[in-house]
Amino acid sequence: MGDIPVPSTCKGCERDIALSEEQITRILNNMRPKMECVNDEVYEARLLACAQCDELMSGHTCGISGSIVRIRALAATQNCPSYHGSRWQGSA
Ligand code: SF4
Repeated sequence: MGDIPVPSTCKGCERDIALSEEQITRILNNMRPKMECVNDEVYEARLLACAQCDELMSGHTCGISGSIVRIRALAATQNCPSYHGSRWQGSA
């Protein structure tokens, strides 16, 4: 099966969906104080799982949840929504 092309704009509003690392870092820094966070070890393990996952889109977005993985992986209350069971070891 060939690769499915990933659109570069949102279907609803046609805004560019590409996010820079700087934009993600800014969002992350705004959200971090407002949520319960996992520790660094768990965070890195989650991000590694995402980096190796076929559902990861554009290097930053989970294709199942639509979440930015650098943000979702930091939240202690979140889990990996993989159809095959969580790819985040030790998650709730
Ligand atoms: S399915 Fe899970 S491992 Fe894959 S990108 Fe989404 S959150 Fe990450």
